[in-house]
Amino acid sequence: MTVYQKVTSWEEALNALTQPEITILAGGTDLYADEKFPHKNSRLVDISQLKSNHLITEDEGGWWFDALMTWSDFTAANLPPLFDGLKAAARQIGGVQIQNAGTIGGNICNASPAADSVPPLMALNAEVEIRNLDGARLVPLGDFILGRRKTTLRSGEMISRIFVPKPDGYGVSDFIKIGGRAYLVISPVMVAGMLDLSDTKIINSCRIVVGACSEVAQKLDSISNRLVGIHVSEISRFELTSDDFAGLTPISDGRASAEYRRQSAETLVARLLKKWGTVYG
Ligand SMILES: Cc1cc2nc3c(=O)[nH]c(=O)nc-3n(C[C@H](O)[C@H](O)[C@H](O)COP(=O)(O)OP(=O)(O)OC[C@H]3O[C@@H](n4cnc5c(N)ncnc54)[C@H](O)[C@@H]3O)c2cc1C
Repeated sequence: MTVYQKVTSWEEALNALTQPEITILAGGTDLYADEKFPHKNSRLVDISQLKSNHLITEDEGGWWFDALMTWSDFTAANLPPLFDGLKAAARQIGGVQIQNAGTIGGNICNASPAADSVPPLMALNAEVEIRNLDGARLVPLGDFILGRRKTTLRSGEMISRIFVPKPDGYGVSDFIKIGGRAYLVISPVMVAGMLDLSDTKIINSCRIVVGACSEVAQKLDSISNRLVGIHVSEISRFELTSDDFAGLTPISDGRASAEYRRQSAETLVARLLKKWGTVYG
């Protein structure tokens, strides 16, 4: 038998999570689509009522996003260009019905290699706030996801917020996803990137992340490191090498072959750099 419990306070939620065989339910768009759902003898803890009235909080260090924010909430939010990549991902997650129900916390905790929010959030150096009865701690998103469907969450824990630090200069970001069709597609390859530009358009810092080409989205540090210090107008002439993509471990499956994924990753990164050079150069 599956027990369903809708919690209405953090205290109730965190106490409920200490029981055995717990499944956290947020928007349910991943869980309900899982053929093994619901697990026998499990306790379903519905956290949807914990959604805050203040979905986004900004302080001097950065922005805090409620884990129960939906993709439609993101699309409607008034955010600076730093979040254009994440917003582009939000607009491409499933269709409108999925965007109305699916949450950022659910996308991260589901830990799918093809989760659309993970590359843009990693490009933003996002951190995940984990809460349990003892308090809260922040973990970088890249350390939170350990592998396919694996996270560092322990029994009695859930994620409450996502933190994105402010860049030193003018921050911009982008996201490119490809697939068998333009919409309603789980992507075989996606690329996200973030640029932090000085007043004179010198690149202060940069992060490029490829998703769906390894169990966990990968930052391409060799490219980012070489871009630091150059003027953004030079970015479209920047040379990529196959070594830049050596950290990717794409697989062949029903969506694409490993070779297609690798070549597409190279093409999408080159396309992203060209676009940045044109738009910001
Ligand atoms: C038709 C369809 C199309 C889709 N298209 C896309 C797509 O294009 N791109 C994409 O990335 N995804 C897609 N998805 C997957 C899904 O919609 C997203 O991953 C969504 O963001 C999941 O959020 P949720 O709130 O519905 O998660 P749920 O289904 O409620 O939960 C997902 C997992 O996260 C856990 N969880 C949820 N919230 C928390 C929390 N706060 N703390 C700890 N654990 C938590 C749950 O226990 C569960 O294991 C699609 C799904 C469907 C059904």
